[in-house]
Amino acid sequence: MQQNKSSTRVLVSSFGILAILLAGLIVFVEYRYRSLRNQATTLTQNIAQLRTQLSETDKAVQTLQNLNGDLTDQIHITEKQASSLLDEFNRISGTVGTLEKLSKIDSRLLQKYSKVYFLNENFVPDRLSTVDQRYTLEKNRIYQFHADAYSYLVRLLDAAKTEGFEMQIASAYRSFKEQTALKSQYTVVYGSGANKFSADQGYSEHQLGTTVDLTTTKVGGTLSRFETDPAYGWLEANAYKYGFILSYPKGNSYYIFEPWHWRFVGVDLAGKLHRDNLHFYDMDQHEIDKYLITLFD
Ligand SMILES: [Zn+2]
Repeated sequence: MQQNKSSTRVLVSSFGILAILLAGLIVFVEYRYRSLRNQATTLTQNIAQLRTQLSETDKAVQTLQNLNGDLTDQIHITEKQASSLLDEFNRISGTVGTLEKLSKIDSRLLQKYSKVYFLNENFVPDRLSTVDQRYTLEKNRIYQFHADAYSYLVRLLDAAKTEGFEMQIASAYRSFKEQTALKSQYTVVYGSGANKFSADQGYSEHQLGTTVDLTTTKVGGTLSRFETDPAYGWLEANAYKYGFILSYPKGNSYYIFEPWHWRFVGVDLAGKLHRDNLHFYDMDQHEIDKYLITLFD
Protein backbone atom coordinates (compact mmCIF):
# COMPACT_ATOMS: atom_id res chain seq x y z
CA MET A 1 0.00 0.00 0.00
CA GLN A 2 2.79 2.26 1.01
CA GLN A 3 4.59 1.25 -2.18
CA ASN A 4 1.52 2.07 -4.33
CA LYS A 5 1.32 5.58 -2.86
CA SER A 6 4.91 6.20 -3.53
CA SER A 7 4.57 5.01 -7.13
CA THR A 8 1.59 7.28 -7.68
CA ARG A 9 3.58 10.29 -6.40
CA VAL A 10 6.40 9.53 -8.73
CA LEU A 11 3.98 9.18 -11.62
CA VAL A 12 2.27 12.49 -10.73
CA SER A 13 5.56 14.31 -10.41
CA SER A 14 6.76 12.85 -13.77
CA PHE A 15 3.60 14.11 -15.50
CA GLY A 16 4.23 17.52 -13.88
CA ILE A 17 7.69 17.68 -15.26
CA LEU A 18 6.50 16.50 -18.63
CA ALA A 19 3.78 19.13 -18.65
CA ILE A 20 6.25 21.82 -17.74
CA LEU A 21 8.62 20.68 -20.49
CA LEU A 22 5.78 20.56 -22.98
CA ALA A 23 4.65 24.05 -22.00
CA GLY A 24 8.27 25.25 -22.36
CA LEU A 25 8.51 23.64 -25.75
CA ILE A 26 5.28 25.24 -26.89
CA VAL A 27 6.51 28.65 -25.72
CA PHE A 28 9.84 28.14 -27.53
CA VAL A 29 8.24 26.96 -30.74
CA GLU A 30 5.78 29.84 -30.56
CA TYR A 31 8.71 32.28 -30.06
CA ARG A 32 10.71 30.70 -32.83
CA TYR A 33 7.73 30.78 -35.18
CA ARG A 34 7.16 34.50 -34.55
CA SER A 35 10.82 35.25 -34.97
CA LEU A 36 11.01 33.37 -38.28
CA ARG A 37 7.79 34.98 -39.47
CA ASN A 38 9.25 38.41 -38.71
CA GLN A 39 12.42 37.52 -40.58
CA ALA A 40 10.37 36.22 -43.52
CA THR A 41 8.34 39.43 -43.57
CA THR A 42 11.53 41.49 -43.53
CA LEU A 43 13.03 39.36 -46.31
CA THR A 44 9.82 39.67 -48.38
CA GLN A 45 9.97 43.43 -47.94
CA ASN A 46 13.66 43.47 -48.88
CA ILE A 47 12.93 41.40 -51.98
CA ALA A 48 10.15 43.78 -52.97
CA GLN A 49 12.51 46.71 -52.49
CA LEU A 50 15.23 45.02 -54.54
CA ARG A 51 12.68 44.26 -57.28
CA THR A 52 11.70 47.90 -57.34
CA GLN A 53 15.35 48.92 -57.48
CA LEU A 54 16.03 46.37 -60.22
CA SER A 55 13.12 47.66 -62.22
CA GLU A 56 14.37 51.23 -61.79
CA THR A 57 17.86 50.15 -62.75
CA ASP A 58 16.43 48.42 -65.87
CA LYS A 59 14.71 51.64 -66.80
CA ALA A 60 17.90 53.62 -66.21
CA VAL A 61 19.86 51.13 -68.35
CA GLN A 62 17.23 51.40 -71.09
CA THR A 63 17.41 55.21 -70.93
CA LEU A 64 21.21 55.07 -71.10
CA GLN A 65 21.03 52.63 -74.01
CA ASN A 66 18.68 54.95 -75.85
CA LEU A 67 20.94 57.88 -75.05
CA ASN A 68 23.94 55.88 -76.26
CA GLY A 69 22.10 55.09 -79.50
CA ASP A 70 21.25 58.76 -79.96
CA LEU A 71 24.83 59.80 -79.25
CA THR A 72 26.16 57.18 -81.68
CA ASP A 73 23.81 58.50 -84.38
CA GLN A 74 24.88 62.04 -83.54
CA ILE A 75 28.56 61.03 -83.78
CA HIS A 76 27.93 59.46 -87.22
CA ILE A 77 26.14 62.61 -88.40
CA THR A 78 28.91 64.83 -87.04
CA GLU A 79 31.58 62.59 -88.62
CA LYS A 80 29.81 62.84 -91.99
CA GLN A 81 29.54 66.60 -91.64
CA ALA A 82 33.23 66.85 -90.70
CA SER A 83 34.18 64.63 -93.65
CA SER A 84 32.12 66.66 -96.13
CA LEU A 85 33.54 69.89 -94.67
CA LEU A 86 37.03 68.47 -95.13
CA ASP A 87 36.20 67.55 -98.75
CA GLU A 88 34.87 71.05 -99.31
CA PHE A 89 37.99 72.52 -97.70
CA ASN A 90 40.28 70.37 -99.89
CA ARG A 91 38.27 71.25 -102.99
CA ILE A 92 38.46 74.97 -102.23
CA SER A 93 42.17 74.69 -101.36
CA GLY A 94 42.74 72.92 -104.69
CA THR A 95 40.82 75.61 -106.55
CA VAL A 96 42.68 78.35 -104.73
CA GLY A 97 45.99 76.60 -105.52
CA THR A 98 45.03 76.28 -109.19
CA LEU A 99 43.92 79.91 -109.39
CA GLU A 100 47.06 81.07 -107.60
CA LYS A 101 49.22 79.03 -110.00
CA LEU A 102 47.27 80.33 -113.01
CA SER A 103 47.53 83.92 -111.80
CA LYS A 104 51.32 83.59 -111.94
CA ILE A 105 51.38 82.36 -115.55
CA ASP A 106 51.00 84.96 -118.27
CA SER A 107 48.15 83.74 -120.51
CA ARG A 108 49.73 85.58 -123.47
CA LEU A 109 52.45 82.90 -123.52
CA LEU A 110 49.94 80.46 -125.04
CA GLN A 111 48.09 82.95 -127.19
CA LYS A 112 47.69 82.37 -130.92
CA TYR A 113 48.85 85.45 -132.72
CA SER A 114 47.84 86.63 -136.12
CA LYS A 115 47.79 89.85 -138.09
CA VAL A 116 44.51 90.63 -136.28
CA TYR A 117 45.38 89.70 -132.74
CA PHE A 118 48.82 90.38 -131.40
CA LEU A 119 50.84 91.37 -128.38
CA ASN A 120 50.78 94.90 -127.09
CA GLU A 121 53.87 96.77 -128.18
CA ASN A 122 54.70 97.44 -124.51
CA PHE A 123 54.70 93.75 -123.62
CA VAL A 124 57.94 92.55 -122.00
CA PRO A 125 58.27 89.07 -120.39
CA ASP A 126 58.25 89.00 -116.56
CA ARG A 127 61.77 87.65 -116.25
CA LEU A 128 64.43 87.04 -118.85
CA SER A 129 67.52 84.85 -118.54
CA THR A 130 70.67 85.51 -120.49
CA VAL A 131 71.39 82.50 -122.69
CA ASP A 132 74.72 80.79 -122.07
CA GLN A 133 77.20 81.58 -124.87
CA ARG A 134 77.79 77.92 -125.68
CA TYR A 135 74.26 77.85 -127.15
CA THR A 136 74.45 81.05 -129.21
CA LEU A 137 75.45 81.81 -132.78
CA GLU A 138 77.13 85.19 -132.28
CA LYS A 139 79.32 84.99 -129.20
CA ASN A 140 79.61 88.76 -128.69
CA ARG A 141 75.84 89.27 -128.69
CA ILE A 142 73.47 88.98 -125.71
CA TYR A 143 70.58 86.57 -126.21
CA GLN A 144 67.73 86.45 -123.73
CA PHE A 145 65.01 83.88 -123.14
CA HIS A 146 62.00 83.67 -120.78
CA ALA A 147 63.44 82.71 -117.37
CA ASP A 148 60.72 80.13 -116.61
CA ALA A 149 61.26 78.33 -119.93
CA TYR A 150 65.04 78.65 -120.13
CA SER A 151 65.76 75.26 -118.49
CA TYR A 152 63.59 73.56 -121.16
CA LEU A 153 65.61 75.24 -123.91
CA VAL A 154 68.88 74.12 -122.32
CA ARG A 155 67.63 70.53 -122.02
CA LEU A 156 66.49 70.55 -125.65
CA LEU A 157 69.85 71.77 -126.93
CA ASP A 158 71.85 69.48 -124.62
CA ALA A 159 69.83 66.43 -125.70
CA ALA A 160 70.28 67.31 -129.38
CA LYS A 161 74.02 67.76 -128.92
CA THR A 162 74.30 64.42 -127.08
CA GLU A 163 72.67 62.74 -130.08
CA GLY A 164 75.01 64.48 -132.51
CA PHE A 165 72.89 67.45 -133.56
CA GLU A 166 74.57 70.50 -132.10
CA MET A 167 72.58 73.67 -132.71
CA GLN A 168 73.00 77.37 -132.02
CA ILE A 169 70.45 80.03 -131.25
CA ALA A 170 70.33 82.62 -134.01
CA SER A 171 67.62 84.68 -132.33
CA ALA A 172 65.73 84.53 -129.04
CA TYR A 173 63.79 87.29 -127.23
CA ARG A 174 63.28 90.37 -129.37
CA SER A 175 61.72 93.52 -128.01
CA PHE A 176 59.09 95.35 -130.04
CA LYS A 177 61.71 97.95 -131.03
CA GLU A 178 64.23 95.33 -132.16
CA GLN A 179 61.54 93.57 -134.18
CA THR A 180 60.51 96.85 -135.82
CA ALA A 181 64.15 97.55 -136.77
CA LEU A 182 64.50 94.01 -138.14
CA LYS A 183 61.28 94.39 -140.10
CA SER A 184 62.44 97.59 -141.82
CA GLN A 185 65.71 95.85 -142.70
CA TYR A 186 63.78 92.99 -144.32
CA THR A 187 61.46 95.44 -146.08
CA VAL A 188 64.41 97.26 -147.54
CA VAL A 189 65.78 94.00 -148.91
CA TYR A 190 62.55 92.16 -149.81
CA GLY A 191 59.98 94.92 -150.21
CA SER A 192 56.39 94.03 -149.27
CA GLY A 193 57.31 90.32 -149.54
CA ALA A 194 58.84 90.75 -146.07
CA ASN A 195 55.34 90.52 -144.61
CA LYS A 196 55.30 86.85 -145.47
CA PHE A 197 58.13 85.92 -143.14
CA SER A 198 58.48 88.73 -140.68
CA ALA A 199 55.58 89.59 -138.45
CA ASP A 200 53.80 92.80 -139.33
CA GLN A 201 54.30 96.09 -137.55
CA GLY A 202 57.08 94.72 -135.37
CA TYR A 203 54.82 92.15 -133.69
CA SER A 204 56.38 88.74 -133.39
CA GLU A 205 56.32 85.59 -131.27
CA HIS A 206 59.91 86.48 -130.38
CA GLN A 207 58.55 89.28 -128.19
CA LEU A 208 57.11 86.57 -125.89
CA GLY A 209 60.62 85.50 -124.87
CA THR A 210 59.67 81.83 -125.36
CA THR A 211 60.62 81.55 -129.02
CA VAL A 212 63.98 80.84 -130.68
CA ASP A 213 65.37 80.62 -134.19
CA LEU A 214 67.74 77.66 -134.37
CA THR A 215 70.58 76.93 -136.72
CA THR A 216 73.73 74.84 -137.04
CA THR A 217 77.35 75.73 -137.78
CA LYS A 218 76.83 74.41 -141.30
CA VAL A 219 73.69 76.48 -141.96
CA GLY A 220 74.88 79.60 -140.14
CA GLY A 221 72.77 82.70 -140.58
CA THR A 222 71.03 81.57 -143.77
CA LEU A 223 68.09 80.10 -141.90
CA SER A 224 66.15 79.04 -145.01
CA ARG A 225 68.72 76.26 -145.45
CA PHE A 226 67.91 74.81 -142.03
CA GLU A 227 65.15 72.61 -143.50
CA THR A 228 67.75 70.37 -145.16
CA ASP A 229 69.92 70.06 -142.04
CA PRO A 230 69.59 66.77 -140.09
CA ALA A 231 69.16 68.87 -136.93
CA TYR A 232 65.76 69.96 -138.25
CA GLY A 233 64.73 66.31 -138.59
CA TRP A 234 65.84 65.72 -135.02
CA LEU A 235 63.75 68.68 -133.80
CA GLU A 236 60.68 67.44 -135.66
CA ALA A 237 60.97 64.08 -133.90
CA ASN A 238 62.06 65.26 -130.46
CA ALA A 239 61.40 68.95 -129.71
CA TYR A 240 57.93 68.21 -128.30
CA LYS A 241 59.53 66.24 -125.43
CA TYR A 242 61.00 69.53 -124.20
CA GLY A 243 57.83 71.57 -124.84
CA PHE A 244 58.83 73.12 -128.18
CA ILE A 245 56.76 73.23 -131.37
CA LEU A 246 57.17 74.53 -134.89
CA SER A 247 54.96 77.63 -135.15
CA TYR A 248 54.84 77.94 -138.91
CA PRO A 249 54.93 74.53 -140.58
CA LYS A 250 54.65 73.95 -144.31
CA GLY A 251 51.39 75.15 -145.81
CA ASN A 252 50.31 77.30 -142.82
CA SER A 253 48.20 80.35 -143.57
CA TYR A 254 50.17 82.82 -141.44
CA TYR A 255 53.74 83.07 -142.66
CA ILE A 256 56.04 81.17 -144.94
CA PHE A 257 57.36 77.85 -143.67
CA GLU A 258 59.89 78.64 -140.93
CA PRO A 259 61.73 75.41 -140.02
CA TRP A 260 64.10 77.37 -137.75
CA HIS A 261 61.42 79.07 -135.63
CA TRP A 262 60.52 77.07 -132.48
CA ARG A 263 58.15 78.19 -129.74
CA PHE A 264 57.90 76.85 -126.19
CA VAL A 265 54.30 75.88 -125.32
CA GLY A 266 54.93 73.43 -122.45
CA VAL A 267 55.57 69.68 -122.51
CA ASP A 268 51.88 68.83 -122.03
CA LEU A 269 50.55 70.77 -125.00
CA ALA A 270 53.51 69.99 -127.25
CA GLY A 271 52.95 66.28 -126.47
CA LYS A 272 49.27 66.53 -127.36
CA LEU A 273 50.05 68.29 -130.66
CA HIS A 274 52.64 65.63 -131.50
CA ARG A 275 50.32 62.71 -130.63
CA ASP A 276 47.36 64.14 -132.54
CA ASN A 277 49.54 65.32 -135.44
CA LEU A 278 48.14 68.85 -135.03
CA HIS A 279 49.75 72.26 -135.35
CA PHE A 280 49.46 74.89 -132.64
CA TYR A 281 47.70 77.37 -134.92
CA ASP A 282 45.18 74.71 -136.00
CA MET A 283 43.96 74.35 -132.43
CA ASP A 284 41.11 76.33 -130.94
CA GLN A 285 42.35 79.04 -128.53
CA HIS A 286 39.84 77.83 -125.93
CA GLU A 287 41.40 74.33 -126.09
CA ILE A 288 44.94 75.74 -125.93
CA ASP A 289 44.11 77.76 -122.80
CA LYS A 290 43.40 74.54 -120.88
CA TYR A 291 47.15 73.82 -121.04
CA LEU A 292 48.19 77.13 -119.46
CA ILE A 293 48.15 75.63 -115.94
CA THR A 294 50.77 73.01 -116.90
CA LEU A 295 52.90 75.33 -119.05
CA PHE A 296 55.96 75.12 -116.77
CA ASP A 297 55.31 71.65 -115.28
ZN1 LIG B 1 61.68 83.31 -135.51
